[in-house]
Amino acid sequence: MTDPSHEGLKEIEIKGIPGSPGVAVGPVLLVKTEEERLVERTISEEDIPREIARFEEALINTRHQVHEIQQKVSNAIGQESASIFDAHLLVVDDRSFVEEVIRGLGTQRRNVEAVLTAVADRYADALSAIEDDYLRERAADVRDVTRRILRNLSGRSSTLLTQLDKPYIVVSNDLAPSDTATLNKEKVMGFGTDLGSPTSHTAIMARALAIPAVVGLHDVSVRVSTGDMVLIDGNKGLFVIHPTHERLAHYGKVQEIRQGVETRLKGLKDQPAITKDGYQVTLSANIELPGDMDAVIQNGAVGVGLFRTEYLYLSSKQQLPTEEDQYNAYTEVARRLGDAPAIIRTLDLGGDKFLSHLKTPAELNPFMGWRAIRFCLAQPDIFKTQLRAVLRASTYENIKLMYPMVSNVEEVVHANEFLEEAKNELRQRGQPFNDNMEVGVMIEVPSAAITANLIAPHVDFFSLGTNDLVQYTMAVDRVNERVAYLYEPTHPAIIRLIKNTIDVGHEHGIWVGICGEMAANPLMAPLLMGLGLDEFSMSPSAIPLVKEAVRSVMFHEAEELARHVLVSESAPKVLELCRKLLERVAPEILELIS
Ligand code: PEP
Ligand code: MG
Repeated sequence: MTDPSHEGLKEIEIKGIPGSPGVAVGPVLLVKTEEERLVERTISEEDIPREIARFEEALINTRHQVHEIQQKVSNAIGQESASIFDAHLLVVDDRSFVEEVIRGLGTQRRNVEAVLTAVADRYADALSAIEDDYLRERAADVRDVTRRILRNLSGRSSTLLTQLDKPYIVVSNDLAPSDTATLNKEKVMGFGTDLGSPTSHTAIMARALAIPAVVGLHDVSVRVSTGDMVLIDGNKGLFVIHPTHERLAHYGKVQEIRQGVETRLKGLKDQPAITKDGYQVTLSANIELPGDMDAVIQNGAVGVGLFRTEYLYLSSKQQLPTEEDQYNAYTEVARRLGDAPAIIRTLDLGGDKFLSHLKTPAELNPFMGWRAIRFCLAQPDIFKTQLRAVLRASTYENIKLMYPMVSNVEEVVHANEFLEEAKNELRQRGQPFNDNMEVGVMIEVPSAAITANLIAPHVDFFSLGTNDLVQYTMAVDRVNERVAYLYEPTHPAIIRLIKNTIDVGHEHGIWVGICGEMAANPLMAPLLMGLGLDEFSMSPSAIPLVKEAVRSVMFHEAEELARHVLVSESAPKVLELCRKLLERVAPEILELIS
């Protein structure tokens, strides 16, 4: 590690929440997430056409949105009121305004946000200086519509994060999962955010990309500036501004030890996840995009236990991915796995993942709202396009389908009816599919966990989505750092729901897995195994350590742990029991994770 400490500047340590493991040291790039995140940059001559294209696209989107607003206002309060937005359209269509911005790109060599803001300010100032009420009002219109254009530009400003000139540690109030999905791994060494929790999709995405991250840092985005040197420790959840020489030297040593252990763990790649006395479980991987398959294979996963397909939708910003796009993505994953299973989860939009161009109404409680299967059942066209794509890909017989956020049996029945319709449509087209494709559900809503016996007869497997199961059971918003302390996967309520789901699944002859982040914690592996879990699915990078934990215990020790846990009265006590077992059988794992 080179020594980037800044002599003379006082070190500041901020404690946050571990978002994604790993340590990174480097300069900050501060990214604003407010509507008008005005990031000023100089541009080169070659950048000008791209900036013009971004501007034109933002103008088209703005025009489209203003028309929509007009329509709504006209329907609600009449045509006359709607006509006030004509002035906004006049600005967007004003060629001299537009051309002045385009000319400014060439003369000022600054990005379009900066040039547009300057031109709009000049227009607005000139209009407000005129002694005429009508024209003065037009100044407000210019400012208003400029804000909208900037917002549309900033919707694409995630591309900014893909085009950085050198490696940075990105700091922001928050990053949307779609921002994280488009991060350029080569240039983003890590990130820190004011908001977020370990199970926010932004953190999950960071783990998938193996980018160190610390979230829940409260006000870090106002405490640093672009260029400040920082160290982030994604294992401990530490963010250090102006780290000292001593701090950097210490981290250098820790990194060396960690790398040694990681090299040893890589040797486990082709070994099974089997206890010392021969009890075997399946360790599979969670993926967000087909590009994650390299990591799946490198880390020795036995299949994909969760393909979060919404990232196909989030990364195709302007429109929904077509049946063909999806078919290609699913077959690529299936093909790379050979015979190993690939579980495709149907679209889970809503919660903290939104597609702006779907224009779904804003909700007060999006995690409890129109999310996942609820959204899909109400949008048959979108849902059936995906079902047909998965079915067509199911000619690779390792493909299985899974529905998210099921809260009652009717939803499963209804979704299966759509699946039958999709099959009939393919029959009519003469396209092949696997009529016996396995269909499972995520158990992530308490009502589903409690009534697992009613759901089991309709499905082929269960996968516990503990990220949401904890959120909904504990009434703790999974992305709210203020209540993160209450987010306890080891709470007796969660353990009981997991136990019930596993027992009911087995009574009905179906296998039960887990694909929430709890599966990635080596501390939890013996407990989950002892509770009878069949499959663990996690970020690919977590597999080696969990495998090491499984291979370090005897199955009867895991069962004994589960028995004690089931009569424990608190989350810390459960955690302590898990810790004690690992301390005895694999102390070096404990060292690495604490
Ligand atoms: C879960 O809820 O545990 C899960 C795996 O799904 P997601 O994190 O995508 O909501
Ligand atoms: Mg979930």
